[in-house]
Amino acid sequence: MQRRAFLQNLTWMAAASSLSSLKAFAGLLPRQQKRMPALFIGHGSPMNGIALTPFARQWMELGRQIPRPEAVVCISAHWLTEGTWVTAMNQPRTIHDFFGFPDELYQVRYPARGDEALARNITTLVTKTQVGLNHDWGLDHGAWTVVRRMYPDADIPVLQLSIDYDRPPQDHYELGQQLAGLRNRGVLLIGSGNMVHNLRLVSWKADAGEAFGYDWALEANEIFKKHIASRNHKALLSYEQLGPAVRRAVPTPDHYYPLLYVLGLQQDNEEVQFFNDEAVMGSVTMTSLLLT
Ligand code: ZN
Repeated sequence: MQRRAFLQNLTWMAAASSLSSLKAFAGLLPRQQKRMPALFIGHGSPMNGIALTPFARQWMELGRQIPRPEAVVCISAHWLTEGTWVTAMNQPRTIHDFFGFPDELYQVRYPARGDEALARNITTLVTKTQVGLNHDWGLDHGAWTVVRRMYPDADIPVLQLSIDYDRPPQDHYELGQQLAGLRNRGVLLIGSGNMVHNLRLVSWKADAGEAFGYDWALEANEIFKKHIASRNHKALLSYEQLGPAVRRAVPTPDHYYPLLYVLGLQQDNEEVQFFNDEAVMGSVTMTSLLLT
């Protein structure tokens, strides 16, 4: 098991190192713009939290390019709950919810503050379901590995919204729609997961130095992108009907649901830009999107 984790770490870094230049994003208005962009981030390995992979570098670049938010609300694949909760503590802890990684990764603390007033705001903004205040969670690696790269000074409050895992896809999408108003109040919403995410089929022997995706993973990635680009959210909500490649890509929906929140945030005529559009380890894609 230890050897496997070691190999996994090496391979993640090697696969990522084969990628090249950073993407410059189009259509970003000056920092005073009214509506914040929204993001879906493929977070991949926790190693992106410390290794300077091209994925992590792109997150850093994002932080520099998009308008500076008043606060960040992250919907992470790693906080699955019964009911919907928003973190409301003043000082969320850094959660190291992974096993078999280097000590250095467990030493990372991301001391961003919370924002209880914003958390309360969210509980009243969302009317289709009840959102409760949570004081126990914190920032899991789906959130901090990404947000720390974007805002290394930890000077922007960060909240997490949980995923009520028993709810159907449509509910997650509608919850995203209900959060859209926050974008006009300077809040950056981030869905953090991976569109293609099948850890059971990961290639632990993936060739060092190569970004690598199985045919079915690449096929699923193209299907997702096609429907996202053409704004066919209905198809994406019925992802189980999208064929065998997609069914393999989403064996369980934990890493897929964060995408549905972001699709729910999309406004009329809003542009989608893809980035980090790569598969790694055969069965995971880092493909991400920016809505502006
Ligand atoms: Zn994950």
